[in-house]
Amino acid sequence: MPICMIANYFLSLHTPSERMEDKIQIHSVSPLKQKNMMFKKILLFLSLIAVQSAAAQDSRPPFSLPQLPYATNALEPAISKQTVELHYGKHLQAYVNNVNKMVAGTTWEGKTLNEIIAGAEGALYNNAGQILNHDLYFKGFSPKGGGEPKGNLGKAIKAKWGSFEAFKEEFAKQATALFGSGWTWLAKDADGRLLIKNYANGGNPVEEGLTPILGFDVWEHAYYLDYQNRRADHIKALWSIIDWKVVSRRFDR
Ligand code: MN
Repeated sequence: MPICMIANYFLSLHTPSERMEDKIQIHSVSPLKQKNMMFKKILLFLSLIAVQSAAAQDSRPPFSLPQLPYATNALEPAISKQTVELHYGKHLQAYVNNVNKMVAGTTWEGKTLNEIIAGAEGALYNNAGQILNHDLYFKGFSPKGGGEPKGNLGKAIKAKWGSFEAFKEEFAKQATALFGSGWTWLAKDADGRLLIKNYANGGNPVEEGLTPILGFDVWEHAYYLDYQNRRADHIKALWSIIDWKVVSRRFDR
C-alpha cells in the first residue's frame, strides 16, 4: 500500500538515535535544524492520519492489492509459498479487478468498501466482501504468530468461552462444519460482545453491522494444495501463525 510506504519513510526519518541526539542537543540546535525537525514532525503526523483513514473498510475505488506484511514463504509450513502466491496474487487480485470493473461509471464508485458490502447484492457484494475478507485474513498472520491473545480480547474470549482452548475448539468446529465455500468469523457487536459466525461465499460480518476480528477462509483455494481434503488439519495449523497483536487491535478499536 503506497500510503503505508510513505508513512514508513517518514517514520524512518525519525530514528531512535536521532531522537537521542535531539534530546542531548536540545539547547544547542540551530534554527535551521529546528525548522527541519518541526517539518518532519508535521509530515509524520499527517502520514499517520493517512494510514488511519486508509484502512481497507474505509477505502474507495479503484481498489488495489494490499501489501503483504511478510514474504510469500514466511507462513510455511502452515501455508505454503505456492498457496500464498496463488491465493493472494491470483484470487485476491481477481476480486480487486472484478470490483473495479463493476463499479466503474456507477454510483458505487464514490462509496467506501464498507458501504459497498452493506448495500450491494450478488456478484458485487461477494467480490467486495472478498476484498475486505482477504485484507483482514492476510494481515492477521505473522511468521512470529501463535500463542494466545492478551489484553481485552484475551479477557473477553475467556469470559465468553471459559478458556482460549475452548474458544479454539468452538471456532474450529464451526469452520470445519461450514458447507461449501465461505468464512468463519470471530466478530463483535455494538456492545463489544463476541460471537463466532459462518458466512457463505464472500460474506462478512460488516453486512450485519458487526466488527470482524478474526476470519478463517475455508474456501478450498485457501488450503487444497497443502492439505487436499483435510480442512480440519489446515485450521489447526492456522493457530500457529495468528498475529494476536493485530487481531486484538481490531477488538480494541
Ligand atoms: Mn480466499
